[in-house]
Amino acid sequence: MSSIVLFGPPGAGKGTQAAAIMEKTGLPQVSTGDMLRLALSNRTELGLEAKGYMEAGKLVPDELILSLIQERLKEDDAAGGVLFDGFPRTIPQAESLSEITELSMVISIEVPDDNIIERIVGRRMDSETGDIYHIKFKPAPSEIENRLVQRKDDTEETVRSRLDAYHSQTATLADYYADMGILKKVDGDREIIEVTNSIFNLLV
Ligand code: AMP
Repeated sequence: MSSIVLFGPPGAGKGTQAAAIMEKTGLPQVSTGDMLRLALSNRTELGLEAKGYMEAGKLVPDELILSLIQERLKEDDAAGGVLFDGFPRTIPQAESLSEITELSMVISIEVPDDNIIERIVGRRMDSETGDIYHIKFKPAPSEIENRLVQRKDDTEETVRSRLDAYHSQTATLADYYADMGILKKVDGDREIIEVTNSIFNLLV
């Protein structure tokens, strides 16, 4: 089976939808953001190199990202294809990806810029399971409230930089994949379950 890319601005709900797609398709999720955060918490050389970019809301250089991806795709569970989340984010990343794996579909979750700040600033993560909640749109159960953490780059100022990076470096990938005929757009400005259903309709 070939791989799928989940595409969209920060806060579009890629991670949330990735969990549902993973459950349905069995494809392992490959999130470069999660991999970088893990590398950083393990204080690896790569994690420390990426830190400044991430905290400033800028893209990490392509070479670092591509070496992470190349290593990840060598693992056994990636042999049947993977679900990319937050990768590729630049044209050079997409070009390199096309040399190492085949894509069946790029699912673009569309959310207007105006909603992104509220979506991201209210986002919280369960520090034990990694599950994502939102103080308004998806409140966590009260028994795990004390485990909730906020990502360091989920502040309004950093989100604005992340949105700038998205518009100046990443958004153009939608045209790139539309030209290849594999871009599928989904309205992400709806209830989570409705977005999931639209995505599942694309997968059948
Ligand atoms: P995310 O969890 O996908 O929002 O990513 C968090 C941060 O990690 C981004 O703001 C970037 O600094 C970095 N990052 C994640 N994936 C990539 C990528 N494919 N290319 C460049 N930087 C990335």
